[in-house]
Amino acid sequence: MATSRCWIAGLIVASVVLLCLSAPVVAQDAQHVYGAKTARPYTLDDYLYGRTFVYNMAEFRKTPNGPNTPGSAAYKSAIEPFKIAGNTYYVGVAGQGAYLITTAQGDILIEQPYDQDVGDKILQSIQKLGFKPTDIKIMTASEYHVDHMGATAYLKAKTGAQLVMMEGDAALVEKGEGIPAAKVDRVLRDRDQIKLGNVVITAYRIPGHTPGATTFLWQVTENNQNYNVAETCCWSNTPPSHNLISDPLYPTTLLRHNFDVLKSLPVDIPTPGSHSDHFNLQGKLAKMKANPKVNPWIAPQDYRGVIAYWEWAFEQEVLKQLKDGPPAPTPAPAAAPAGAGGASAPRPPASFPPFPDRP
Ligand SMILES: [Zn+2]
Ligand SMILES: [Zn+2]
Repeated sequence: MATSRCWIAGLIVASVVLLCLSAPVVAQDAQHVYGAKTARPYTLDDYLYGRTFVYNMAEFRKTPNGPNTPGSAAYKSAIEPFKIAGNTYYVGVAGQGAYLITTAQGDILIEQPYDQDVGDKILQSIQKLGFKPTDIKIMTASEYHVDHMGATAYLKAKTGAQLVMMEGDAALVEKGEGIPAAKVDRVLRDRDQIKLGNVVITAYRIPGHTPGATTFLWQVTENNQNYNVAETCCWSNTPPSHNLISDPLYPTTLLRHNFDVLKSLPVDIPTPGSHSDHFNLQGKLAKMKANPKVNPWIAPQDYRGVIAYWEWAFEQEVLKQLKDGPPAPTPAPAAAPAGAGGASAPRPPASFPPFPDRP
């Protein structure tokens, strides 16, 4: 018992050192001045907060037939669309997010998960909010897998929107790698911007989960306050091999750089996520109901905690692989494989680390 406590204490000390070493985090980007108030070095408190947050979400994923339980029928069920803040709306289904950003010059849709059926639910949600699907001028997604882009080709045909994708994933979308192929009208490079009306979305390339995985950052105004909103992807794993030590495609330095980028973003409002439990859709919906006067989506601590936790988990896996050797390479999946719940049930990454004792 004493030995295991020592071991856990050692891990925590190691993680503190790692978190400290990987500062600084103050954003340099003048565009993001509004979120600058939340930009400060990451600390052990962020990690501890994130550990509880991620633990609770992982537990919630085990709820039988729950909205975030992989493979459950509830996962793809429609939910009431709602405003997150300013001109940004949730139009996804229970388990998988989709985000509408409206402007006077047309709208932007981020994420088009799964299939036509989910695509239709997204269109219905957009209409329920009083917007027109044909006003969607630009679509993009955080990565090309079917749970993010299975409905892209369908919705592109329905709306006539332009498809904008990060390099690395753009070619896979055009090839139809595990999804219906769709023409990419514009290929983004790291930190390119998507502009429409008064909205500017900056696209940060976070390669690893897929070659062109992307985190998006934009601003909204709510009650005369400006906030930075982020749709975040992907911090967790690195197909095909999950080799964090010597994979030439995804070297440790690159994956560490991803965390530095994510930590440099002064995020006020993390969207619930491409997978809606990343930032606790259900919990925040309950908060909204309990107290409509407080906007639960303004949650910079949730963003900081989740990123701090996953950086710690990543470094734990690096330490493990340094000790035990990297896992044997496996062939790259064409896309997320078919799961019990349909085209592809989301699943924890293969390198999902064991959770520390519940705090
Ligand atoms: Zn994926
Ligand atoms: Zn996914």
